[in-house]
Amino acid sequence: MTVKIAIDGPAGAGKSTVAKKLAKLLGFTYIDTGAMYRAITLKVLRENISLEDEERIVEVARKSDISLDGERVFLDGEDVSEEIRKPIISQKVSVVSQIPEVREILVKKQRKIAEGKNVVMDGRDIGTVVLPDAQFKFFLTASLEERARRRYEELKNKGTEVKYEEVLEEIKKRDSLDSGRKTSPLTIPEGAILIDTTDLTEEEVVERVYEAIRKNTKGEI
Ligand code: C5P
Repeated sequence: MTVKIAIDGPAGAGKSTVAKKLAKLLGFTYIDTGAMYRAITLKVLRENISLEDEERIVEVARKSDISLDGERVFLDGEDVSEEIRKPIISQKVSVVSQIPEVREILVKKQRKIAEGKNVVMDGRDIGTVVLPDAQFKFFLTASLEERARRRYEELKNKGTEVKYEEVLEEIKKRDSLDSGRKTSPLTIPEGAILIDTTDLTEEEVVERVYEAIRKNTKGEI
């Protein structure tokens, strides 16, 4: 039997950092589903496709080869790990991710990647839609201001020029699109362990998640 760990939550709640560290700690495969929606968005922008042209966006999703190798993300064989984190992608990705057929295509890929492996998967609909049978479900959250502050610091450290207010607005907009969309909106999965990370360090969050897993497996993991 394989072990599946689902980590959901809004942008900037600390999901990917925690998921990566946890996967390393447990020796599991880390799967960043947000990166897959970002890669499709990058291709749509590169091909100058209108964000209103759902048909062509779905076509892009169907024909693209997206693969993950640890933390690296490949689009049709090209390493796009850095490019997909740029603000322009963050601003547009929630428009692409709300298209039901795009979700259908990516959810199928995500399940396939997870097949037969022990995984830590992070996203918005992992515990509810992608891996509803996951043995462990976590929902990470934090105040809007703290999430914006973290994203702002992250971008600044990478040398990207942004204003805090712009990041705050982008996250607010993304929250509203991700939570308000018709197909698999961001919701807390039933049975998920909720962690508010506003006043916690990354290490503290990892510790809580790890402890919850160990407690529920009687230390077998
Ligand atoms: O996790 P990250 O912030 O990189 O995700 C980028 C965007 O991809 C989210 O804002 C959301 O619109 C979309 N997404 C999604 N479902 C997932 C993962 C990400 O809709 N499972």
